[in-house]
Amino acid sequence: MTAPLKPGARIGILGGGQLGRMLALAAARLGFDAVIYAPEEDSPAGRVACETVRAAYADLDAVRRFAQSVDVVTYEFENVPVDTARAAAEHAPVRPDPKALEVAQDRDVEKSFLNAHGGTTVPFRAAATLDELRAAVQTIGTPSILKTRRFGYDGKGQAVLNSPDDAEAAFEAVGGAPSILEGFARFEREVSIIAARSLSGEVRAYPLALNTHTDGILRESAAPAEADDRTREAAFAIATEILEALDYVGVIGVELFDLGDGQLLVNEIAPRVHNTGHWTMDACLCDQFEQHIRAVAGWPLGDPEPFAPARMINLIGEDANDWQRWLSEPGAVLHLYGKREVREGRKMGHVNIVERG
Ligand code: ADP
Ligand code: MG
Repeated sequence: MTAPLKPGARIGILGGGQLGRMLALAAARLGFDAVIYAPEEDSPAGRVACETVRAAYADLDAVRRFAQSVDVVTYEFENVPVDTARAAAEHAPVRPDPKALEVAQDRDVEKSFLNAHGGTTVPFRAAATLDELRAAVQTIGTPSILKTRRFGYDGKGQAVLNSPDDAEAAFEAVGGAPSILEGFARFEREVSIIAARSLSGEVRAYPLALNTHTDGILRESAAPAEADDRTREAAFAIATEILEALDYVGVIGVELFDLGDGQLLVNEIAPRVHNTGHWTMDACLCDQFEQHIRAVAGWPLGDPEPFAPARMINLIGEDANDWQRWLSEPGAVLHLYGKREVREGRKMGHVNIVERG
């Protein structure tokens, strides 16, 4: 099925978080009905969608019924089980293809894939046991970072090794889970590229964002990041090769380490809209959420060129209690995700500060 969806069609979204919420809002503006599939009650996405199916991801009968009831299925969460996405694909096109989930869910598979498709990553070795970790430290050296292969996000499931003696403590810190040991990247800065591929194979990308993390959590993104032509072209080439290798339809986030000597290392990919692309909501005529909806609907991609520079500030945990201050801040646009409870480290919203000429 390759015909573009018509306004009024139903777009199924696996996942009920803030990314699903912003996708549902973008879908609604284009006349689509968004249907959320989420295991949690009262999800941020479900409250702005026209319908929610509340069921476990492992409930494949519920997944199949959901897929039958929509025209296309997409996802906002990279840990949707691959079997869930494949069950949905029996009844509706799933975009991006579930193989993007398969690659992105396992850091070992992901890094091997990235090195085979246009990118270079830090050196890495898989370690399923403490003995394997000790052997990995011999080749990778220190400083290095141990990361669980699966389910890590916002810096969770990671431990730094400053010397080979740290191996045991690091392995314990990640709960003895199957992991990879990564060489420490001495990057000058972190950037990301948010790119999209349409059903017809067209690739477009937003300009690079410059990202700042604290304690493994994204705090700020500023875009367009200053970058020479070579860096910009290299980032676009990496993103394009990844998208093509996955026969990808939709928006992808590619996190990059800029080593400063014109060399970019790929850190990881997110097979979905990405936090470092939230600035596009107030600085581009077609933001990353509309871009994703356009792609999965089989529509032509929109213009990713920003009309103004912008800076996105994440509101994490208690930051969100300060929401009122942003209402009088020049150039600021407040976005809150409707999460019922403030928790430490939880992404509650963001603010875009748009630079006006
Ligand atoms: P997550 O899935 O939690 O986003 P990342 O692998 O992106 O995990 O790690 C979070 C942050 O930790 C990165 O954005 C970067 O700042 C830092 N980091 C991760 N891996 C490395 C590395 N190999 N070398 C240096 N810093 C790293
Ligand atoms: Mg990351």
